[in-house]
Amino acid sequence: MGSDFPQDFDTLAVRAGQVRGSEGEHAEAIYATSSFAYGSAAEAAARFSGATPGNVYSRFTNPTVRTFQDRLAALEGGAACVATASGMAAILATCMGLLQQGDHVVCSRSVFGSTINLFERYLKRFGVQVDFVAQTELSAWSAAIRPNTRLLFAETPSNPLLELVDIAALAELAHAHGALLAIDNCLCTPALQRPLALGADLVIHSATKYLDGQGRCLGGAVVGDAERVGKDIFGFLRSAGPSMSPFNAWVFLKGLETLRLRMRAHCENAQRLALWLQGQAQVERVYYPGLATHLQHALAQRQQEGFGGIVAFEVRGGQQAAWRVVDATRMISITGNLGDSKSTITHPATTTHGRMSTAQRAEAGISDGLLRVSVGLESVTDIIDDLARGLG
Ligand SMILES: *Cc1c(COP(=O)(O)O)cnc(C)c1O
Repeated sequence: MGSDFPQDFDTLAVRAGQVRGSEGEHAEAIYATSSFAYGSAAEAAARFSGATPGNVYSRFTNPTVRTFQDRLAALEGGAACVATASGMAAILATCMGLLQQGDHVVCSRSVFGSTINLFERYLKRFGVQVDFVAQTELSAWSAAIRPNTRLLFAETPSNPLLELVDIAALAELAHAHGALLAIDNCLCTPALQRPLALGADLVIHSATKYLDGQGRCLGGAVVGDAERVGKDIFGFLRSAGPSMSPFNAWVFLKGLETLRLRMRAHCENAQRLALWLQGQAQVERVYYPGLATHLQHALAQRQQEGFGGIVAFEVRGGQQAAWRVVDATRMISITGNLGDSKSTITHPATTTHGRMSTAQRAEAGISDGLLRVSVGLESVTDIIDDLARGLG
């Protein structure tokens, strides 16, 4: 986009990155092609060598994927974006593009389970050491840093307990030790939180969640500067190939166009549900950053433009009582996914966190009575009625 193009978020979400083709199509085209043809041997040579920019092969250059990358980069306020096949591929590409043997990573203990597995089981095999710290304690992050620490990694708010981290403070800490800060912005999306503006170096997305918003496609992305994302992480994607398909990119593009409207509606429904849950005798505790009782409510107000669509709560009576709430629902989907227009309910202790030991779960705060609801876009009174069935 030229410098005279409107820079408002709502406008960028609808229009950034689109390059209209020779057919004059109004909506973005899906370029379902693996490769691209050239007019001459010399043109092919120049394109392959990088002497002239342009499309080569859809593992690393596809016009639909590029439109998605440019649009998400604009929304996050980053110079470069690399789209990937999934959120986990985005995290892998970040590690492979930026880390090497002997490097050290400090990661929040509260990140997505597969992220912990990736670091613990696979990165360690290649000589990258990882320490996990309590997300909300800045002193723990600080104490874990070593001379070879290259990356700090956090997800804020976290899932399912909605713990925040002060992004600006963590960025300052990382930079004081020559390390980078990566923030998984899955739960907020750029509609509610822009980590780069707060000092983070890299933003990670699972586009599978709110960027799609309707539970259709897997995808991911990394946003940041031209050097690390545009060269180092892009270079890994080009060589290794965990790439986003043009069709998925197109679905995510359509998702971005309505992202802010949807996030506002998710926030509104979640706030109303959280307040209602707080008043229920069978509910022991509610976790939602929009509640005044949330331990980091002030930070959430400062750092986010909304409190998000995820609400967690503890039911009195442990697993049996929690399962009763799940099984009494008639509308809400029983599934592990989140960030969908359809509300979903999950019992973390026996699903997403089921492979952890009892002691690990206790340390992570995942009790047997804990439930997580990804609050969708249905009528909030219907969502409340559906949960009330099992709480009565
Ligand atoms: C789902 C998720 C991921 C992984 O994304 P996939 O697209 O499933 O690979 C990473 N981080 C968070 C916070 C997630 O919720």
